[in-house]
Amino acid sequence: MKKLLLFAILPLAAAAPASAKLKVVTSLQDFASIADAIGGNRVETFAIAKGYQDSHFVDPKPSFVLKLNRADLLIAAGLELELGYLPPLIDQSRNEKIHPGNRGYLDASIGCEVLQRPTGIVTRAMGDVHPFGNPHYWTDPDNGRVIARSIAAKLSNIDPSGRADYQRNLAAFEAKLAAKDKEWLAKMAPYTGTKVVTFHNSWPNFAKHFKLDVRGHIEPKPGIPPTPSHTLEIINLIKTEKIPLILVEPYFDKKTPNYIASKTGATVLTFYPSVGGRPDIPDYFSRFDYDIDSFIKAMKERR
Ligand SMILES: [Zn+2]
Repeated sequence: MKKLLLFAILPLAAAAPASAKLKVVTSLQDFASIADAIGGNRVETFAIAKGYQDSHFVDPKPSFVLKLNRADLLIAAGLELELGYLPPLIDQSRNEKIHPGNRGYLDASIGCEVLQRPTGIVTRAMGDVHPFGNPHYWTDPDNGRVIARSIAAKLSNIDPSGRADYQRNLAAFEAKLAAKDKEWLAKMAPYTGTKVVTFHNSWPNFAKHFKLDVRGHIEPKPGIPPTPSHTLEIINLIKTEKIPLILVEPYFDKKTPNYIASKTGATVLTFYPSVGGRPDIPDYFSRFDYDIDSFIKAMKERR
């Protein structure tokens, strides 16, 4: 874990110009996108991890501490997704209200369907960055709806005078999500049961919702880089099961996926787990649009 270096004493929050907008800091751009949709012009959002970065591993910067110092609300994925950087940033923020358990903190996983929850004793020594279940749950639109409701409730709690606005924006978000999900499910229906290998274990919720069959991962364990022996196992798996696609999150080196593709004929496809993964994925809806369209294009090109 990188140590935070704070060269200057934080300016006093009181010295900042007064702003009527609620300051919402999120770990992920996905949560910022949903908070923007629900908060409208009553909030301003800032995401710590950009969508093109691995949300498990972000370099903490002093500027993040400053953002957190002034935040009214912090929204995090929880399940230890942000373990490597968020707790020290919160500690250094000198902002009591955004500590976990306090009024200005929202664990977005609450109420969501979280898959792969472990049974039995969990220790980090297991060498896994998913110790409490899969933390990439926002890739299922049904969880997106839950997150939007949680954000609306939290914003209404912090800012009761905006309650009607938040409820109206939530209704609009849910209506759009329902319509888009119908469209996405229809597009993906012909590919029900398609087998895929993914680099990181980012996709169980997406795969469940859109009925894909994730057969394996290039990482031997979440957060552990590829090894020659595991790569060989994946090559054999892809050959045996005739798996057409290898989905790779944008922040991983394509060397091993490309090598596996060269041995198997599978197609390597960059798949974006987060908003902001590329400039034409500016919000929660366009991420599904982009991934689904590129998935279908890749499958059609294999025919
Ligand atoms: Zn992960």
